[in-house]
Amino acid sequence: MTGKSGGPRRPSEGRTQPDRLDQVVARARKEQGDRLKGYRELSLKIHPWVCGRCGRAFTRENLHLLTVHHKDHNHDNNPLDGSNWENLCIYCHDNEHARYLDHQAGAGRDNGASDRLEATNQPFARLKDLLKPK
Ligand SMILES: [Zn+2]
Ligand SMILES: [Zn+2]
Repeated sequence: MTGKSGGPRRPSEGRTQPDRLDQVVARARKEQGDRLKGYRELSLKIHPWVCGRCGRAFTRENLHLLTVHHKDHNHDNNPLDGSNWENLCIYCHDNEHARYLDHQAGAGRDNGASDRLEATNQPFARLKDLLKPK
């Protein structure tokens, strides 16, 4: 005979937690951000802090003006040996993308999606003034 029933176990599955999804999304965003940051740091470790186009050298102070460009414009192509990365100053990086977009203007728009993403990710518009020689 089992007089006492149930035990301490109480199913709490009736509760749905809307927070959960937020957490998942937040974590995914963070991971994505870490990944993006990761390749930049890696590239800066592998390659010298010099713009691959204009040869401008960078130091810790202005390193934020040095960006990492994907040579094949495919941001998902991140070989760890850095063979697809090129350190470019924001000027030359801008230039490179302008030329690329120019080149493919008229060709399908979908192809530019990843590049547009990178472009909007870079809050460098104002920094150009800093880079200008006085
Ligand atoms: Zn440059
Ligand atoms: Zn680029």
